[in-house]
Amino acid sequence: MITLEGLVDFHCHLDLYPDHRAAVQEADAAGVFTLAVTTTPRAWPRNHEFARATRHVRAALGLHPQLVGEHASELALWDAHLAETRYIGEVGLDAGPRFYKSFDLQKQVFEHILRRCAEAGNKVISVHSVRTAKAVLDHIEAYLPPGQGKIVLHWFTGTKAEAKRAIEMGCYFSVNAAMFNSERHISMVSALPLERLLTETDGPFTQTGGRPSKPSDVLVVVEAIGRLHGLSSLEVIANIKANLRGLLEFT
Ligand code: MN
Repeated sequence: MITLEGLVDFHCHLDLYPDHRAAVQEADAAGVFTLAVTTTPRAWPRNHEFARATRHVRAALGLHPQLVGEHASELALWDAHLAETRYIGEVGLDAGPRFYKSFDLQKQVFEHILRRCAEAGNKVISVHSVRTAKAVLDHIEAYLPPGQGKIVLHWFTGTKAEAKRAIEMGCYFSVNAAMFNSERHISMVSALPLERLLTETDGPFTQTGGRPSKPSDVLVVVEAIGRLHGLSSLEVIANIKANLRGLLEFT
């Protein structure tokens, strides 16, 4: 019997479920450590308010690269809230065809965010890197000196060589079930050190059993990692828990 207590969903959009408050309460009641990422700074106050009343849910202050084209003006608001949280996300870069036109602006915003995080120190940052692993790593290397903050690459789909570079830079990886649908991604995930892995759903953008994933569905990811490394689910859960503890240790 596996207890869900101690599962980790390090990237979930709880504010995009039909009932935000209920989604937060359900994650908390299940004992799943859930990082509730946000996509615009305007969403921060409500996420912060709901998360701070829980034991297991933490809110992250974000400005999603896919929204930078229309919401870059909210960067001042992002700055204004920065001191209220240790957790940042979702931030990063997206070079997919629909967002490429804002790519220069995305780079400016991501540089700004990393610089502010480096100045503030001790932030934990959930980073989106669709079709742009190299540029994301270049930005981190340039603007977030080692020891000035910690990066968790969310749904990373770069090459093995790019993953190796990220590992050398100290990055963690939050892995979701959808990544196990591709042989290339499985091969990359299997090359990641177990001690740098976290689990995520990216709900509600992924599905589990035909409905939007919820935080406790990271159990599916735990099982997939277990198959990859020949470990039981309990062993994987213990590892992920230890990784989270290591990540959150003050630097
Ligand atoms: Mn996301």
